[in-house]
Amino acid sequence: MSITVAKFGGTSLADAAHFRKIREIVEGDPDRRIIVVSAPGKRFPEDVKVTDLLLSCYEKAAAEENFEPILREIRDRYLEIIRGIFPGDAGQGDGSFVLPESGQKNRPLVLQEERLLRALEEIRSHLLTDPARDYTASRGEYLSARILSDYLGFTFVDPAWCVCFRADGSFDQQMTIRTMAASLRPLKNAVIAGFYGADEAGVIHTFQRGGSDVTGALAARAVSADLYENWTDVPGLLSADPRIVDHPKRVNALSYRELRTLSYMGASVLHSDAVQPASDLGIPINIRSTEEPENPGTMIVRKLPKGETRRPVSGVAGMQGMSVIQVEKLMVSDGSGFASIMLDILKKRNLPFEHCLTGIDSITIVIRTMLLEPVREELLTEIREELQPDYLAVRDNLSMIVVVGEKGTDTSDANVRVLEALSEAGIEITTINQGAGKLNLLIGVPEDSYEEAIRAIYSVVEDAL
Ligand code: ASP
Repeated sequence: MSITVAKFGGTSLADAAHFRKIREIVEGDPDRRIIVVSAPGKRFPEDVKVTDLLLSCYEKAAAEENFEPILREIRDRYLEIIRGIFPGDAGQGDGSFVLPESGQKNRPLVLQEERLLRALEEIRSHLLTDPARDYTASRGEYLSARILSDYLGFTFVDPAWCVCFRADGSFDQQMTIRTMAASLRPLKNAVIAGFYGADEAGVIHTFQRGGSDVTGALAARAVSADLYENWTDVPGLLSADPRIVDHPKRVNALSYRELRTLSYMGASVLHSDAVQPASDLGIPINIRSTEEPENPGTMIVRKLPKGETRRPVSGVAGMQGMSVIQVEKLMVSDGSGFASIMLDILKKRNLPFEHCLTGIDSITIVIRTMLLEPVREELLTEIREELQPDYLAVRDNLSMIVVVGEKGTDTSDANVRVLEALSEAGIEITTINQGAGKLNLLIGVPEDSYEEAIRAIYSVVEDAL
């Protein structure tokens, strides 16, 4: 029997109606046996995600301020969900943290309310005695998974038992795959909470925001799933940001490498760290929408299925808030190790950079302004002392745009058209970067032309999508 790991994101768990949709989706395919969940997300644009509410509770608690009203908001979000999905009359969980009367215990809804209130009581006592950020943030996923597992009749799996972090907060992938495999493989079905795990001492640690995608990919890898479905609120990956481009096309299929590049560069449909665990075993990832379950969504695979011809370009994405450090010195390229000294200077400070471009007598580093800012002066002083450059300058307020396509840029004149489009729109190109791999063309533009540049590029690559 095949196994599908299905991960549901925050908007797919936002309220009771969505929990009902999830049940329909899960019951619609018996292969969907491992379910991974986020915390309830936004129900409408101004709404606040449960994870953000929890983080606000933590911040208030850490500052010894009153977090009760926010905790009550969280309680109400979950009460709406359980009251909408479990049969029975509501208990008393609507005014304060009062537990339902014990005589009512045989009724599913009352039991759920009791469990919810107890769980919230535990969060509350942690916040009062020993507030911890990651523990607090993780409770949204924990509660979603507890509720959904009862609703589906699946086994609940707490990732604190099988998603392994080290005491310093770093993630141990190898150990996680082994432990997850041992926990999940024997089960007929399971619901596991996304986003967090624990170290050996049981201390909870979280992934970055959006990290439930990573938990889903790890679960898929651990059980050697046949498919990893990622259910969200959009029917697949769009070829450009819909806030910038009007109705961008949906991408039917793309490669892991293309997706990784697009999501790293800002396409927000899947966390970029979720690609590698699935691609290790060649497990296809299918991005689907809970709002349109009949839509096949976007398939992400190592090799595109037969009949699906590769398009030259699969998407356009970008990142703002970039700076460029430009260093020039005559005879740099004479083998004196100029580039490696430059990279050592960055490495010494653990400063990750986005791109490094070398010319005959120059080297250009593209780096996030946010990371450069705290060390800017000392870094420039060291570059001056160590490299004695003829010219050294930093330029801020830049954006990087990526045009991604496995085949793209070598089989078509896409590159030429992209550059022409930018020049016709009067947009300055500050850097151009394309390696021999040709997967992507990276273009730097001034921040204030970012959106215009994306639109100009999209308009000329649209027919190649
Ligand atoms: N709930 C977490 C967040 O809002 C993790 C996730 O949704 O994947 O970032």
